[in-house]
Amino acid sequence: MLEKKNYQFWFCTGSQDLYGEECLAHVAEHSKIIVEALNRSGNLPYEVIWKPTMITNEVIRRTFNEANTDENCAGIITWMHTFSPAKSWILGLQELRKPLLHLHTQFNREIPYDTIDMDFMNENQSAHGDREYGHIFSRLGMERKVIAGYWEDADVQKEIGAWMCTAVGVIESSHVRVMRVADNMRNVAVTEGDKVEAQIKFGWEVDAYPVNEIVEAVNAVSQADIDTLVEEYYSKYDILLEGRDEKEFRQHVAVQAGIEIGFERFLEERNYQAIVTHFGDLGGLKQLPGLAIQRLMEKGYGFGAEGDWKTAAMVRVMKIMTQGVKDAKGTSFMEDYTYNLVPGKEGVLEAHMLEVCPTIADGRIAIKEQPLSMGEREDPARLVFTSKTGPAIATSLVDLGDRFRLIINDVDCKKTEKPMPKLPVATAFWTPQPNLKVGTEAWILAGGAHHTAFSYDLSAEQMGDWAANMGIEAVYIDKDTNIRQFKNEMNWNSIYYRK
Ligand code: MN
Repeated sequence: MLEKKNYQFWFCTGSQDLYGEECLAHVAEHSKIIVEALNRSGNLPYEVIWKPTMITNEVIRRTFNEANTDENCAGIITWMHTFSPAKSWILGLQELRKPLLHLHTQFNREIPYDTIDMDFMNENQSAHGDREYGHIFSRLGMERKVIAGYWEDADVQKEIGAWMCTAVGVIESSHVRVMRVADNMRNVAVTEGDKVEAQIKFGWEVDAYPVNEIVEAVNAVSQADIDTLVEEYYSKYDILLEGRDEKEFRQHVAVQAGIEIGFERFLEERNYQAIVTHFGDLGGLKQLPGLAIQRLMEKGYGFGAEGDWKTAAMVRVMKIMTQGVKDAKGTSFMEDYTYNLVPGKEGVLEAHMLEVCPTIADGRIAIKEQPLSMGEREDPARLVFTSKTGPAIATSLVDLGDRFRLIINDVDCKKTEKPMPKLPVATAFWTPQPNLKVGTEAWILAGGAHHTAFSYDLSAEQMGDWAANMGIEAVYIDKDTNIRQFKNEMNWNSIYYRK
């Protein structure tokens, strides 16, 4: 389902015709060498395509409009080798609708002390040209990414690679379609929001379907297809019977297999990439989708529980952003559940009733069945596991009435001190930065939800850049967060982002 699309990024070098043919030949040659090196580096998740040097208004405008209509182009990387008068870029930039990276680099690493003359200076003046070029973005109030550094350095290349993932998230956001087979949970505020504004800002289509329409798709799944999938589950996962009847257990697992197949067919036929459910609105479903939703998330679908379409869309966007990440550790829907408040061991136990994505699992995954404390359905089968350790981010997109705010928290994932054998759900455990006290105070002051879109494979910077491209507010809770400053920042933002 989450098929990696082979996006490309165009490398556009700026210059002008003032310096003569020989200089322009060098500019083209140098930029081709840079493009080849970037593509060979192994640090970029997507291919870079060299484009002829941008020397006039006409070439710039035409190239950018070609980029707009090229479905494979996810963004433009620009670099001024020489001086390129920035008025030449105004019309093209005003028409550009793809993410743009301004790479501030230089072909030569070292000043050639013994041979440098004015010809060399005029040919290699990125320090000069990139300032002129950068100015026009600031003048136009245009969002762009600026990365400074030497093009051969791995850390610079990795920064470009991380930006590429963000750019793909920007491009793909407008292809996210969320299926709601349940409304938001009654009386809950934080999962609500303005769906029209979400489509304007993020491009998301959020549609409702009566739950029993998808139930028909589940009921239409053949027994043979269900049996095949149950076999796959039994070969792939451990089975934790825990005294339950083996036959009955398998029947319950088969219900989830039917839901997985039926849901996926229904979503695919109608071109949806994210789904919300609600334990209180299950229609003819025999169980709350648990294992089934976990498997769909693993395949790349976004998910939000209790009708939370904003988080479902964010999970989908973040899964798309990580599709180019090597050795990805996982991205999931998540919920803040309960705290450990023991000094020195503080953290939040993260889980959900059932629906945690197996991509974040550490080690073996098992199937377990247990009654839900809510609803009146069969005991649902679910995948249980604990999650990987290491740095990650938790994000929450909230609708403040006059604007969306994306809250981004750096968190450190850990193992719980002891196993929790009676807990029938997959879990993660993390300490928010800068610490549990300040992290949770800031989160609550920002209006962050209990549901999050969580990933080990994205940085706060990437999510903040994504938000900037969407034109929405982002606030960061990280090692530098200080409550007084944080409150001021949100107050200032309320003026800046006012409609
Ligand atoms: Mn929930």
